[in-house]
Amino acid sequence: MRDQICCTACATPGSGTTDHVTAAAEGGPTSAANGQGLCEDCNLTKETPGWRHTVTSGPLEPHHVQITTPTGHTHHSRAPDSTRARADWIQIEPGRWILAA
Ligand SMILES: [Zn+2]
Repeated sequence: MRDQICCTACATPGSGTTDHVTAAAEGGPTSAANGQGLCEDCNLTKETPGWRHTVTSGPLEPHHVQITTPTGHTHHSRAPDSTRARADWIQIEPGRWILAA
């Protein structure tokens, strides 16, 4: 997962925090799809007025977060395709996967 290595927003290696892209207080679920790694500075910045992070990918697409700044500019962070990760998981029934040993 890219977010264990780099901050989603600034790509700082060794991101120290995990974050709800859509805050739990705003109804965002605690899930991988709604998660991202953020360094402490980007996590604090995200909470200031005018900043918005939004997951724009579907459940079967590489994770993609759109970051909107207070000036309206947008930045994009997309996880790389991960064929290895898919190979490590076995679907045991529709919607249920287990990690292969
Ligand atoms: Zn950062």
